[in-house]
Amino acid sequence: MNRDVPAPAPKVGRSGTESRPARPLAVDSRLIHAGEPVPRIEGAVAMPIFQTSTYVYGGEEGYHNLRYHRLNNSPNHLALHAKLASIEEAESALVTASGMAAISTALLTILSAGDHLLAQARLYGGTYSLITQHLPDLGIAYDFVEGGDPDEWERKLRPETKAIYVETIDNPLLAVPDLEAVVDFAREHGLVSLVDNTFATPVNFRPVALGFDLSLHSGTKYLNGHNDVIAGAVVGRADLVERIRQKLNELGGCLDAHAAFLLHRGLKTLAVRVRRQNESAQALAEALANHPAVARVHYPGLPEHPTHANAARLLDGYGGMVSFEAEGGGEAAARVARRLELAIDAPSLGGVDTLVSRPALLSHAGLPPAERERLGIRDGLIRVSVGLESADDLIADFQQALEE
Ligand SMILES: *Cc1c(COP(=O)(O)O)cnc(C)c1O
Repeated sequence: MNRDVPAPAPKVGRSGTESRPARPLAVDSRLIHAGEPVPRIEGAVAMPIFQTSTYVYGGEEGYHNLRYHRLNNSPNHLALHAKLASIEEAESALVTASGMAAISTALLTILSAGDHLLAQARLYGGTYSLITQHLPDLGIAYDFVEGGDPDEWERKLRPETKAIYVETIDNPLLAVPDLEAVVDFAREHGLVSLVDNTFATPVNFRPVALGFDLSLHSGTKYLNGHNDVIAGAVVGRADLVERIRQKLNELGGCLDAHAAFLLHRGLKTLAVRVRRQNESAQALAEALANHPAVARVHYPGLPEHPTHANAARLLDGYGGMVSFEAEGGGEAAARVARRLELAIDAPSLGGVDTLVSRPALLSHAGLPPAERERLGIRDGLIRVSVGLESADDLIADFQQALEE
């Protein structure tokens, strides 16, 4: 082998497959095959880990094209980018060191001093803090809006409004905004539309296919799915994703090679995991709704959920997240969390292990209590991330924990 000749970057399947079959592949097949290197590196069936920071100079022009791990262009990055773009039916994708790296880098690319952002109320806690505490320091203004009220969006629109930001399924009450109206509103007013699609996953919803410019993920959650990696992703319009990549190259939040390998491996089982979690969450939500010690259940798959109609129209599945309010407030919620035997009392979500968390103590602890109350996030609220245990075992676990 001539060691002076730099090896070219492995090609990754643009169409998402090696053999380009005549019929389009289902998401299950694209999760396995899209983005895999062509030809496979040394014949390896599993994507190898490229544990190297740098690569032999191959004549690349321009800083962002140099082959260097922080510039988000290692073979592990490129394979993930092609796989994620394929499963979300988008032009392009970028993986990041965390979900917050994806969200912050995307917002800091789209917005600059003097701009204004419309954002859905009840965001993920980290996103809420970023918008309320850090964007104003940079001269970026914002207004919160309800996800189902386009008249309010219109009222709060300013000449300097640049973007509208929502979550497919919000946290922790699991409301689904009128996502079609968000896309229409953004197009009508020339705004960039962004959606955090973490809770829905590309199996249940593909935002870019509906018309969103950018879909953001905490890959830490369902995409990886095993509660063992921190990662994020930005998926969408190629011009925007490239601008975000260049910003990320400078901010430095690149995904580590080993984390990339684990995310890649986790993605292959995304569809089976998510469909099973959809089913188990529906069964758990129904069981909790019939339990006398439960005051309220929030699950978009229940007909009485306030945004059930949006969820039924837009999503292919209602997701693996359920939240409910125990009768008796914060003390009752603490007792339930303590008594659960299978479900683990831990923040985070989207993995094979069922986790519970109390938003008033954790994800939404940063909000002033009056603001939490206004948003409907009461002290007795328990959020459940349904894992892959048997649904019957999970229901029995919650029933025993709720007994007086
Ligand atoms: C966890 C989460 C994030 C942040 O992701 P990290 O990977 O922890 O940085 C953002 N949005 C949602 C909806 C999340 O659940």
